[in-house]
Amino acid sequence: MDKSEKVKPLNRGIFITATDTGVGKTVVTAALGLLLQKKGYKVGVMKPVQCGGQDAKFLRTTLRSKDPLEKINPFYAEEPLSPHLAFRRAEKNIDIIKIISIYQELLNKYDFVLVEGAGGLMVPLTEDYFVADLIRDLNLDTIIVSRLGLGTINHTLLTVHQARQAGLNVSGVIFSDTSRKERGIPEQTNPAEIKTLGQVPVLGVIPYLRSVSDILKECDGQIDLDSLLKADRPALTRQFRKWDKEYIWHPFTQMKDWLEDEPLVIDRADGCYLIDTDGNRYLDGVSSLWVNVHGHRRKEIDAALNEQINKLSHSTLLGLANTASIELAQKLVEIAPGGLQKVFYSDNGSTAVEVALKMSYQYWQNTGRANKKMIVHLANSYHGDTLGSVSVGGIELFHKVYRDLIFKTISFDTLNDLDKLEELFEKSHEEMAAFIVEPLIQGAAGMLLWPQHALRRIRELCTKYEILLIADEVATGFGRTGKMFACEHESVHPDILCLAKGLTGGYLPLAATLTKKKIFDGFLFDHKEQKTFFHGHTYTGNPLACAAALANLKIFEKDNTLKKLAPKIEFLRDGLRAFRDLSHVVEVRQLGMMVGIELGPFAWEERMGVKVCQKARERGVILRPLGNVIVLMPSLVISIEELKFLLDTIRWAIEEVL
Ligand SMILES: *Cc1c(COP(=O)(O)O)cnc(C)c1O
Repeated sequence: MDKSEKVKPLNRGIFITATDTGVGKTVVTAALGLLLQKKGYKVGVMKPVQCGGQDAKFLRTTLRSKDPLEKINPFYAEEPLSPHLAFRRAEKNIDIIKIISIYQELLNKYDFVLVEGAGGLMVPLTEDYFVADLIRDLNLDTIIVSRLGLGTINHTLLTVHQARQAGLNVSGVIFSDTSRKERGIPEQTNPAEIKTLGQVPVLGVIPYLRSVSDILKECDGQIDLDSLLKADRPALTRQFRKWDKEYIWHPFTQMKDWLEDEPLVIDRADGCYLIDTDGNRYLDGVSSLWVNVHGHRRKEIDAALNEQINKLSHSTLLGLANTASIELAQKLVEIAPGGLQKVFYSDNGSTAVEVALKMSYQYWQNTGRANKKMIVHLANSYHGDTLGSVSVGGIELFHKVYRDLIFKTISFDTLNDLDKLEELFEKSHEEMAAFIVEPLIQGAAGMLLWPQHALRRIRELCTKYEILLIADEVATGFGRTGKMFACEHESVHPDILCLAKGLTGGYLPLAATLTKKKIFDGFLFDHKEQKTFFHGHTYTGNPLACAAALANLKIFEKDNTLKKLAPKIEFLRDGLRAFRDLSHVVEVRQLGMMVGIELGPFAWEERMGVKVCQKARERGVILRPLGNVIVLMPSLVISIEELKFLLDTIRWAIEEVL
């Protein structure tokens, strides 16, 4: 048995909701409470919102709670109506924050806190906040109470379905027999049918109670408490950790270290926060490795995906077109730097680059300039992990490991002296197909900033020497630098643009390689000439991913995202100033919402970046370093307060570790 199991109190909450009002929720809550007490657990109870009736008082008396009634039921309205209506008519408000804080207080005090809802999941507490939202915000497992009888299958399945749609964890269904009549066929078969049809545990049946005074006697043995107790979160977390180590090979990870560690298992998310299997919330400082743009669980993207799922999940672009990919392509061309008119889809950043490389190489082959074969790239560049994109990468380690598998390229390393680039171009442009760059900031190299105007000069030189300019905006695209695309800072139009990471707002893998009509036209020949672009992935133009991407792009307009970024970027700039005074900070680099805080001087084996990020996790912040560089790349929706917390936490972590 692991140590934490013994010393940690349970502190577990369960929300009791029902298929409808009047099906016996309060009796089930009382019964559960009494049964848990009988097993020796300390049980707290809450009925946060009540409209008419005596439920809270009944629960308080039955479970012999010493908590004042205002804690058990902080929000009471006289009229037996839907809460949003009852409270509006009473000119009172329901304060969700207060409910959450009382719940937290009770949770610290008891092994179990039972929270009884009001009616069912879709009962509105306010105009735009439902019981299901409260369950999610309290982060509770749910028990659904249902009555026995005809019509129950429909109501129960609807409730289970809705709970799952809302992302809630359904612990099980408890039936309550609300009629003194003898049980007929529906009553006898309901539990087994629901178990099968709903794929949900049925925890028991509460018999019809003649008098509430003998709940405990009547219910003893009727509810499967063991399966409820077994499914507690620490046990689930242990299970997931075990299975992760058993089955998963993690990317870019020395699995020997991983197998010795306790991984954090993420189960859900909310805005800029990730939530683990134990319900702990972490501010995500790197937007799920640079992909999340407008926060997790954005209603607009969720809705677009739902809508698309109900139309078409996938159909191929090989020989067929599909609506979602067409709509997205049109939108991408509209927002992309000028001249980019054609969209080639793939699945991730590496393939977007792979496509750009093959396309630029073949373009010259197709158009009678067969000597133009070489790809030029920057030292320190990173363009992905497939062999083609590794070939144009400048990270020494990856080249060393895979050297026999990659092709020859030309690496250029002095952005500060572009006359050298001109010399290189002048000498060898007849052999050069393309120059690939990460414009303005080299992300994976550790957020290295370009000198001003270098991109513009490179554009001029590429034009002059007929070398295609490929802009890899996989990291910098979609607002990260303060503009939609980094190229816009210097009004540069690349010949080919690679997009991925933020394209779907962090929802699904999708990439796009945009290109000019001139290049597209370089592939238009009679079929027999075999000058087709021979490339395509099975999931090219996946409609679900395209629908998510389109919704993601529409949010930029609706929310005015880029305009709202300006003060956040300013705040970051001010906040980062103080870091420069820290003794082990060598340099702080920032472009828009992309930040690198370089620690040093340390050998890479010391893993200082990892240590600082690990420390920050203790205060609820998730980061992922690049060597000795602490990277900050939050979702664009992060608030100023959250940014402040992020900076404060990093500062604290650096000071603690060093
Ligand atoms: C992340 C990244 C890639 C690779 O994208 P994947 O989706 O991980 O294959 C390529 N280029 C740049 C600039 C990146 O940051």
